[in-house]
Amino acid sequence: MIEKNLSVPQLAEEAEAEFRRRFGRPPRWITVAPGRVNLIGEHTDYNDGFVLPMAIERYVVLAADAAPAKTSGPGHYTLCSMTSGQNQSWPADGAPPGGQGDWTSYVWGVLDLCQQRGLATGPLEIVLHSTVPVGGGLSSSAALEVATATLVEAITGQTLDPVKKALLCQQAEHEYAGVPCGIMDQFSSVMGRANQLILLDCRSAQAELVPLRGDDVSILITNTNVKHALTGGEYAERRGQCEAAAQCLGVRSLRDCTVTQLAARQADLEPALMRRARHVVSEIERTTRAADTIRRGDWPATGELMYASHESLRDDYAVSCEELDLVVDLARQIGLSGGMYGSRMTGAGFGGCTVSLVRSDQLAAIAERLAAGYLDKTGIQPTMFVSRPAEGARIFRQD
Ligand code: ADP
Ligand code: MG
Repeated sequence: MIEKNLSVPQLAEEAEAEFRRRFGRPPRWITVAPGRVNLIGEHTDYNDGFVLPMAIERYVVLAADAAPAKTSGPGHYTLCSMTSGQNQSWPADGAPPGGQGDWTSYVWGVLDLCQQRGLATGPLEIVLHSTVPVGGGLSSSAALEVATATLVEAITGQTLDPVKKALLCQQAEHEYAGVPCGIMDQFSSVMGRANQLILLDCRSAQAELVPLRGDDVSILITNTNVKHALTGGEYAERRGQCEAAAQCLGVRSLRDCTVTQLAARQADLEPALMRRARHVVSEIERTTRAADTIRRGDWPATGELMYASHESLRDDYAVSCEELDLVVDLARQIGLSGGMYGSRMTGAGFGGCTVSLVRSDQLAAIAERLAAGYLDKTGIQPTMFVSRPAEGARIFRQD
């Protein structure tokens, strides 16, 4: 019922075997970057607020070598994804055929931005292996960018400042993939630490580590395996509404407003903006409170904050969907007596995953109940895995 996580050495070995099969020689460099799950603090990062993510034991692994020298022309980058089966080549002085937003743009963007900063790699052959579900809200995109930036570090022998590295990857996602994401995803993939959650202040980019102690609680991630095709503008629309609300309130961003202050300004905001702002402002408060309840090991209180976060995302921010609501309702039915502390949607919404805080000794029974209930109502088999907070990106092999 609960999927096993493949270890980094295992993934590296598989990526190496694929590289040898395709290119007839071993890869010179192997880098790894984790996905992330956000425990609480959703849609707060682009409002200068707090988030509380952790890197997960799901990784993007890149195995690479310099492309063989060509007698003429600029040489090419070649990228092969073992998970999607896609392959693409593009000239080292040009762009991938798919252009902005193509699956190659995450790698292309980071290579290109690094080159502009004097970190040129030259043409490469790259095999991409991954256990981060794609498009599930666990940041396969950031893991891909950060693994690429780490590859550049391995090749050039230069180490990027961690915050600058995360910002460069975010810039690649903005300008090359065309996604106006916040800083949480790239930051988590760079800065992840074993057994630590990251309380990140997205205004200052200051991070505080919050230990997730002991083995008595587990983080269970449930993938609904649905991704609703919307018009695609919802994320940008929510960002715009937050900016408009901040402007009406006369603050730089919603970070600068408390729940009490917002309630006093009810008359100044139209109802939709009020609801969006209420989510963000209350979620920022919940996130710092959750860091405290986790430090104290108060799991029921942490779980209540997670349920409240879900309700706020569902009702005020309107980014949930039936399937996510169903998994969270099933979690509520299991309840404290069944070992469930709390549960919420995680990631941008409209599908993807939930994150639940559960008693480790009840994991198997909880997973079974969630899966059976979800399958029964939707006809879809969810996928589930458990993760401890994992280490951030690193070079696995460097010649
Ligand atoms: P998330 O980051 O939540 O997984 P995104 O939509 O931000 O979802 O990023 C997913 C995109 O990243 C994919 O559509 C694809 O373009 C690219 N991507 C991520 N992982 C892979 C992979 N293993 N193979 C090919 N493309 C990938
Ligand atoms: Mg992403």
